[in-house]
Amino acid sequence: MRSTSPEGPAQVRYHLRMRFFATTAEAAPAPPLRDRNEIPDRFKWNLSHIFPDWTRWQAAYDDLETKIAAYAALQGSLAKGPKTLLAAMKLSDEIGQVTYKVWYFASLKHDEDQRDNQINARRQQVQILFAKASQASAWFNPELLQIPLPTVQQWMTANPELGVYRFALEDLYRQQEHVLDDKGEHLLSLSSRFSSSPHDAFSALSTADIKHPTIRLSTGDVTLTYGQYRAILATNRNQADRATAFTEYHKLFTTNVNTYAALYNGVLQRDWFLAQARDYRSTLEAALHGNNIPPAVVENLIEATKAGTEPLRRYHRLRKRVLDLKTYHTFDTTIPLVDFDRKYPYDQVLEWLAASVAPLGQEYQRELRDTLRGDWVDVYENPGKRSGAYSAPVYGVHPYMLLNYNDTLDAVFTLAHEMGHSMHTLLASAHQPFVYAAYTIFVAEVPSTLSEALFLDYMLDRATDDRERIVLLQHAIDAIVGTFYTQVMFADYELQAHRLVEEGRPVTGDTLSDIYLTLLKAYHGDALDYDELSRVTWARIPHFFSTPYYVYQYATCYASSAELMKHLRSADPQQRAAAVERYVTLLKSGGSDHPMPLLQRAGVDLGTPEPVRAVVDQFDRLVTQLEDAIRNLS
Ligand SMILES: [Zn+2]
Repeated sequence: MRSTSPEGPAQVRYHLRMRFFATTAEAAPAPPLRDRNEIPDRFKWNLSHIFPDWTRWQAAYDDLETKIAAYAALQGSLAKGPKTLLAAMKLSDEIGQVTYKVWYFASLKHDEDQRDNQINARRQQVQILFAKASQASAWFNPELLQIPLPTVQQWMTANPELGVYRFALEDLYRQQEHVLDDKGEHLLSLSSRFSSSPHDAFSALSTADIKHPTIRLSTGDVTLTYGQYRAILATNRNQADRATAFTEYHKLFTTNVNTYAALYNGVLQRDWFLAQARDYRSTLEAALHGNNIPPAVVENLIEATKAGTEPLRRYHRLRKRVLDLKTYHTFDTTIPLVDFDRKYPYDQVLEWLAASVAPLGQEYQRELRDTLRGDWVDVYENPGKRSGAYSAPVYGVHPYMLLNYNDTLDAVFTLAHEMGHSMHTLLASAHQPFVYAAYTIFVAEVPSTLSEALFLDYMLDRATDDRERIVLLQHAIDAIVGTFYTQVMFADYELQAHRLVEEGRPVTGDTLSDIYLTLLKAYHGDALDYDELSRVTWARIPHFFSTPYYVYQYATCYASSAELMKHLRSADPQQRAAAVERYVTLLKSGGSDHPMPLLQRAGVDLGTPEPVRAVVDQFDRLVTQLEDAIRNLS
């Protein structure tokens, strides 16, 4: 939800790379860790761009506290007229801007070395202040919504400074349609205390309480944690070992399948309760209303994807042949086709990345070089540093990127991905007022995936070694399988499961497992040999229990990005130039409108099957290229 109140930690977002099928456990043995002070400065971010020291940070923190108190004191003033409303909006912006700096300075420092308790304490101090800020601003929405919308619209027309906030304010009124009266809202807020129970119980059952078995493989005995399970599937070339790992891992879930089904039923019933309480026709409609996305977008996504599964099957048939397997199962889908361990030194990669965005024009390229500057990126791992990678949008300063760069191809694509987020931040901040500088997740993964796609093109053009080509192509193909096909299948599953409760039908372990297996078959046809245990896969997907109707956004972002790439690759230079212009405008637009119209203006209509077809065509081409590369190799 768009918030005009000071930002809390939940709203201050990092853009993390999607890593559904990450297999960190099997990564090559890491080089010995250097202490942070042994790493040259040019590979470490410089946080003095935010504050020169903790004294200045404390001064800003104190200033923030004063401003929050001043905001609370504005309560009761809004109806007086446009001037007082404008004053509240401006103060909210000021608070938001200081918040970014105060939060990220502490948070990024903390991520440099999470073992430092003093810094962690300061970070928590900010979180406590955020909680206070959200209480101090809770009056704003109800008080605003007491004023009739036409009155506020009149004020905005007469007062251009207030007019800047038109989209933000009108959206609060739009969201108001499903807000209840005080008594109703109070009842719903009481229910929120137990609405997370199904997920809490799922976490306990699937992590804290799970007994990981020790299994015997041809390579020796292994304790089968999730990380180990993924590692075996991604690295162990013995199919019997993979089958054993798969069987033992899924038995953990069949043993408790009725409990998982009861917990998932809790999630479904809660979603349907909240949707009905707020007068939505379906759980899907309720989930999409915040971003103003029509439910038809998800239904259309599912339908168009189901019609485009043939290239996916072709890819798996190719894998079966290349891997020389008699039967081909879900546990055979992630093992690499060839072994290849080229190293990609960071300095070299920076040049390639900058060159890869040439299709977006010189201005974009120039600005991109900024996002890769030494003092904006924290490159290497050091003891205590946060794992993974992200781009942090520090408004009023610039984006910072945290990496744990280890010279692998995966690390290179991670950097390309985060670079896309950073460019989005850079352009949105430069071209939007503060209130619209942040963008929604629905749009966020478009530039990151597009950035990866451009980089892939660049690398494929230059790859001279067939093995490297195969690895690059497989990387790109697996990304589409993981972030597109699988996520649409998951969205399909969630939709069907929610419909069970909407239609008053029973939810049991069997009904859920039947839905899952039917879907698996609908997507993979005769390209897979099916194992009875695959039916229970739904029980081990944390997203289903934690954030229903969330993963489809990865698929719509991927489809949008594929459609944009299609236009950017157009043979006609004029059309190409127009596509670049539209794409850069999308990035500059930040969160100044709902995601659908923003994407529409960029040439992507998610209401049509076109974007999905763009992914399917792209996938098909990549599989053909992979076939060629494999043929050349043999
Ligand atoms: Zn991302």
